Amino acid sequence: MPEKTSSIEFAEDSQIWVLAERTGKQWDTITLELLQDAQVLAKKTGWKTLAIVFGKSEMISDQDCHQLAANGADKVLVLQHAEFGKPGSMMGYSQVLLDSMNGQSPRLLLCPSTPLWVEFACRLIGAWDGVIARDAISFKLTPDNKLEVIQSIWQNKGQMTISMSDDHPWCVCLKPGVAGLGKTKPQAKAQILRQDVSKKQTETVQTVELLPPNPSELDLVEAERIVAGGRGIQGVEGFKALEELAFLLEAAVGASRVAVDLGWVPYVRQVGQTGKIVKPRLYIAAGIAGASQHVDGMRDSEVIIAINTDKNANIFKIAHLGIVGDADTIIRGLIAELEAGGTSQAADKRPKAVSLIN
Ligand SMILES: Cc1cc2nc3c(=O)[nH]c(=O)nc-3n(C[C@H](O)[C@H](O)[C@H](O)COP(=O)(O)OP(=O)(O)OC[C@H]3O[C@@H](n4cnc5c(N)ncnc54)[C@H](O)[C@@H]3O)c2cc1C
Repeated sequence: MPEKTSSIEFAEDSQIWVLAERTGKQWDTITLELLQDAQVLAKKTGWKTLAIVFGKSEMISDQDCHQLAANGADKVLVLQHAEFGKPGSMMGYSQVLLDSMNGQSPRLLLCPSTPLWVEFACRLIGAWDGVIARDAISFKLTPDNKLEVIQSIWQNKGQMTISMSDDHPWCVCLKPGVAGLGKTKPQAKAQILRQDVSKKQTETVQTVELLPPNPSELDLVEAERIVAGGRGIQGVEGFKALEELAFLLEAAVGASRVAVDLGWVPYVRQVGQTGKIVKPRLYIAAGIAGASQHVDGMRDSEVIIAINTDKNANIFKIAHLGIVGDADTIIRGLIAELEAGGTSQAADKRPKAVSLIN
């Protein structure tokens, strides 16, 4: 194992630390959103931004680090270990960072407002005796050097503004997908430091098993993917197939009001004007006509795929991809394709009986 390098000089003038996360070969959008927000604050204050990455050395190239610079990072610290990058608990990561930074702390730590990162951030903020705001939508520095944060509360039904005093390290956990992405500086180059960490440091908590999420419990508002059904799904049996597809796509199950009124799924699954307003990256609408009250709840989805027997159905007007045909046949075909592709171990771990019915 290569000798551990000291990062004291490297980090000492970096007042904003941003936790960077990637899925596969891409930086998560929230990472770029955090960096761009950090950059806005850095421009006003003259502070420097340090992106911190936990990863296997071969998975994070210098080019990847420069992409962080294009979005606002002045410096990038890659903490390397063969175990990093696997999904699971990140409790050990906070100790790794504390050890690597030898007592230094930032003025502001930015990380995604997801359960694992919030847990990680709480441990750091506890060690630094700082203050933390989760579920944040935006933040700004006030003229009297306090950090003002707008937070989402009551499961996104309300918002509040808080003011964090100026004598502590702050941590802001930002909700993914709220800030959006602005312009980048493609030519920017980051100063990069790579540091190997020891196995012992990562061993505080071990992940024993990962369980795939149950599509009928995933929160529609938070879901990245939604598979929704309407009257064209034709009953409870049809919804079971829909749920199976959702399971393989790690998606949440949604529904039209008709499907709810018919008692096929509970109200909590309803998308639309009188249900949930959703904005996933993928929305599959199967057997849904596309009434304005339904569309009001899902039109901002990034990619919409519609399946309907009626080629003139309204839903096709907003769909990016339209499939004219019987929803049940197409859904079962997709399931067979996904299972044949052996996409995941999820198929083996599927709950034996999942019922959406009240
Ligand atoms: C005040 C108010 C609030 C409302 N709020 C909501 C809301 O929040 N959410 C909501 O969804 N609705 C809401 N509605 C109801 C809305 O107007 C529609 O009635 C409802 O969205 C229609 O649901 P649907 O598309 O499943 O059913 P339908 O309108 O009956 O459409 C079924 C669709 O399935 C297709 N189909 C049939 N068989 C198949 C098959 N085998 N394969 C594929 N496709 C097939 C049909 O061609 C048709 O397009 C509201 C209405 C009002 C008045």
